[in-house]
Amino acid sequence: MKNSLVFVLNCGSSSLKFALVDTKTEQQVLSGLADSLGSDSPILKVKYNGNKESIDLASGAMHQMAIDTLVSLLKQYQLDQAIVAIGHRVVHGGEKFKSSALITPQVIAGIQEVSQLAPLHNPANLIGIEATKKIFPSVPQVAVFDTAYHQTIPEHAFLYALPYQLYKENGIRRYGFHGTSHFYIAQQAAQMLGKPVAKLNIICAHLGNGASVTAIANGLSVDTSMGLTPLEGLVMGTRCGDLDPAINHYLIENLGYNQAEVSVLFNQKSGLLGISELSNDCRLIEESAADGHQGAQLALDIFCYRLAKYIASYTVPLGELDAVVFTGGIGENSDVIRANVLALLKIFGFTLDQEANLAARFGNAGFINGPTGPKAIVIPTDEELVIAQDAIRLTQSVEQ
Ligand code: ADP
Repeated sequence: MKNSLVFVLNCGSSSLKFALVDTKTEQQVLSGLADSLGSDSPILKVKYNGNKESIDLASGAMHQMAIDTLVSLLKQYQLDQAIVAIGHRVVHGGEKFKSSALITPQVIAGIQEVSQLAPLHNPANLIGIEATKKIFPSVPQVAVFDTAYHQTIPEHAFLYALPYQLYKENGIRRYGFHGTSHFYIAQQAAQMLGKPVAKLNIICAHLGNGASVTAIANGLSVDTSMGLTPLEGLVMGTRCGDLDPAINHYLIENLGYNQAEVSVLFNQKSGLLGISELSNDCRLIEESAADGHQGAQLALDIFCYRLAKYIASYTVPLGELDAVVFTGGIGENSDVIRANVLALLKIFGFTLDQEANLAARFGNAGFINGPTGPKAIVIPTDEELVIAQDAIRLTQSVEQ
């Protein structure tokens, strides 16, 4: 029998990541990205059977056209008929969605309702849902929320010290993101540590272009560094992370910025890019720092220092620590950052196995701690697999 595939979509404001996940082997049969949507030269890149293909889309093409072109390819490869479910990454589920949901008109209305909390992301996710519904009207669709895993964070950790009414009436609180990745890492870490997830206590650092740390106690998220939006917390590729909120006012009142410019500054011009005045690409930052580029070195130092501070602070909600886990493009590949962060955490007794640290790169998982002190692990994340598994679980529970 032909294997069943789940079509996984992650629609950003100007990009679209996708994968076809085989539900039996749990492998990605096909994957890719549509980039620069809405620009003069949008492009669709597809990886299938070891081959890479790039297709130029028409100038100004948006998600619908990218999905239409992708689906023509799927038909050409005779993969479209094997799709049994579609899983969408939806960025913000607010307090409405504590777990993944089979997409119905009510769920769509719910995603629209929380859109004001993620005005750049949720509308793009909805476009993806509508576009695939048109092409595959009889295939069930599931929404998997980036915020859902963090809905177990207790009130004292998710509330800001603002008037309580702003939470009660306007939903202003910490929601957290990267939940699908942190959830996946918890399951994998439990296996590697030989513990049931329900007894697992780890600190998970997801370090990609966006980056967040989550404290996981007894398998559940109990605190996380991103907040109402994905801007809070760690230093990221182009996002500033934690700031004195008065800087916003200062830029507007004294330096002539308007609010839109401040938003671009904080989201797109800060972080590794802003500090290094070079790039948001961590690989290039590391290479340049090694060549003596001072801005790149400073960017790395601030990135590691902030990350180590967060990891240290998350020992508070845990009480006991089974391991610190690194994941995401930087966490999975940068032996330099992992070594620096563990060195900054020496008060906890962390030691490093340098060979193991070098070996745990490019998709290889492994323990990187030395013989004494707490454990440190590298685990490649797989958000697409979690989305595919949830899509299958929810569609099967309806069929029964
Ligand atoms: P996204 O958040 O877009 O999914 P990724 O998880 O793919 O991002 O992470 C991208 C980041 O990972 C980039 O900063 C990239 O430079 C970094 N990265 C990838 N490979 C390496 C490497 N070998 N060394 C250091 N950083 C790396």
